Amino acid sequence: MKNLYVKNILKIPLILIFITCDKFIDNNKSGYPITPVSFTNVKLTDTFWSRRIETNRTVTIPFGFEKCENEGRIRNFARAGGLLEGEYEGKMPFDDTDVYKIIEGASYSLAVYHDSELEQYIDGLIEKIAAAQEDDGYLCTWKTLNPDTTPAWWVEPGPRWHNLGASHELYNSGHMYEAAVAHYLATDKKNFLNVALKNADLITKTFGPGKKLEVPGHQIIETGLIKLYLVTKNKEYLDMAKFFLDQRGNAEGHELYGSYSQDHKPVKQQDEAVGHAVRAVYMYSGMADIAGIMNDSSYLKAVDKIWENVVSKKLYITGGIGARHDRESFGDNYELPNLTSYNETCAAIGNIYWNHRMFLLHGEAKYIDVLERTLYNGMISGVSLKGNSFFYPNCLESDGKYEFNMGSLTRKPWFDCSCCPTNVIRFIPSVPNYIYAHRGDSLYVNLFVTSEANVEMRNVRLNIYQETEYPWDGKVKIIINPEKDEIFTVNIRIPGWALKKLVPGDLYRYLKTNNEKITLKVNDEVLDFNMNRGFTSITRRWSKGDIIELYLPMPVRRVLAHDRVKSNRNKVALIRGPIVYCAEWADNGISVLDMVIPDNAEIKAEYREDLLDGVVVVKGNVSDKKGRKAELVAIPYYAWSHRGPGEMAVWLLRK
Ligand SMILES: [Zn+2]
Repeated sequence: MKNLYVKNILKIPLILIFITCDKFIDNNKSGYPITPVSFTNVKLTDTFWSRRIETNRTVTIPFGFEKCENEGRIRNFARAGGLLEGEYEGKMPFDDTDVYKIIEGASYSLAVYHDSELEQYIDGLIEKIAAAQEDDGYLCTWKTLNPDTTPAWWVEPGPRWHNLGASHELYNSGHMYEAAVAHYLATDKKNFLNVALKNADLITKTFGPGKKLEVPGHQIIETGLIKLYLVTKNKEYLDMAKFFLDQRGNAEGHELYGSYSQDHKPVKQQDEAVGHAVRAVYMYSGMADIAGIMNDSSYLKAVDKIWENVVSKKLYITGGIGARHDRESFGDNYELPNLTSYNETCAAIGNIYWNHRMFLLHGEAKYIDVLERTLYNGMISGVSLKGNSFFYPNCLESDGKYEFNMGSLTRKPWFDCSCCPTNVIRFIPSVPNYIYAHRGDSLYVNLFVTSEANVEMRNVRLNIYQETEYPWDGKVKIIINPEKDEIFTVNIRIPGWALKKLVPGDLYRYLKTNNEKITLKVNDEVLDFNMNRGFTSITRRWSKGDIIELYLPMPVRRVLAHDRVKSNRNKVALIRGPIVYCAEWADNGISVLDMVIPDNAEIKAEYREDLLDGVVVVKGNVSDKKGRKAELVAIPYYAWSHRGPGEMAVWLLRK
């Protein structure tokens, strides 16, 4: 596998063309107190994420477009636009969004890697999308083609805006806005943005006080509208987003859709994560936007409460959310089964979007702890190392029989509902966006990835170079190069996993304390570090070439779950740094479901270059249920299911 990968990667030029796109700096202002450093200004030179992003660019994006071509998603636009004869093809009312999401990912990719062929191909797609748009701005191919039929039994046929709880018309619009903004920022072209704005103008004419009072069944138009607001400064879009959120749970104007769609009570009164997990996290992201951009304290209070509920009662150790296959939804508090865990890949991606916004709002590292946990575990598990097969649900245990992945025991190339593969495509190229941020002249180093970045703060411009073997090693070297000597603050996140808690709350705890100390040096001088909101802050006069060295000890740690999580009683999970481990059949001589990891068994880490694109495995002498000796080899959770179906477990027996 490794050799194949190397062969593939040699076919493409390794040096990414690094272009600074000023628009991303000027227009991509988050509107939050804290501004992220755009991925266009952060060039990764690591082996972990660069490979993933390159695989996404060279394999997953073309693969996704090909699927959309073959399965009629692109023909649907041409047909709705009168460019082609025929009926709607597809089984879902939101197949349009797969095309939008791949355009979004491809645009992020174009922003850092010039590819004129891809750019032209996307322009061709935009022509078809524009043709499918009705004169007044309406755009939803299945409705335009024939409103009297339906692609899915659970959607009622009917005129536009009929059955909005299920029709996904507004969901289609939301993904279009997100994609159009990404395309505009990446290429400076307005061809797609103009389509989105024409549609958004129809939405603002149609919905709102004194007009239609319904809300979308599946959220995302809220964050999409806010992105349109951020690039156009047209406040109507921001107000429209807030209206859709304010109107949720308000029975005056529409029949409530219930908790499945988070439409059971007004969002400002919600305090528990319920219902369909992807809908939920997209909505919480929108709520964080309203709290951050409009400075709305009631939204802030609500979204804080919901976040507390998730991290302390509904979060998997992998950062996955949404426990139940039934309706793809959150379970009750502490309902976190392993074999039947759902953890949709889209929900993990939404959880990252949400936690990033929570950080931009509050400036606390605990949100990045959740983001990082999800990024390295429950999110990347969703796509294979080769980039062409996917998990929709991400279970934490497999018995080799229960077909958890939509009728499969392993990753599948595509699904009738292909939300997850296309969400992976749009998310992966944006990973460098999460590494740095700043507030005024204060810099935040949130993630540890070998990279070079150019940062423009209020009065300070600087270049930062990071060197690390993270996530396999906790040594991080950061070289600070300000344009001229300046006094400013560098806030370095000390991850929760390196302290007492891998995530906030009491859902997970370490079995034993770790006595090895975190160390921090500046130009070889050891610093005492003070923790403030999960960061250690260094304020000094910085000069070119100043070196910060951080050492985060990475022993293998045993984690226990809260006793109320029934499925994890008498069980232990193994983590090392940000990585969650699992035992898989292929590496172990006995059933991993029968394996017992005594509390005193020594577990060691070992780098295996030959395995799964290069991973640190953890090993130890353990036993089976009858006390017979056995050897444990555990691999990173994200890398499981590359060697055929079989048993796997994250939570292993303790006794
Ligand atoms: Zn999905």
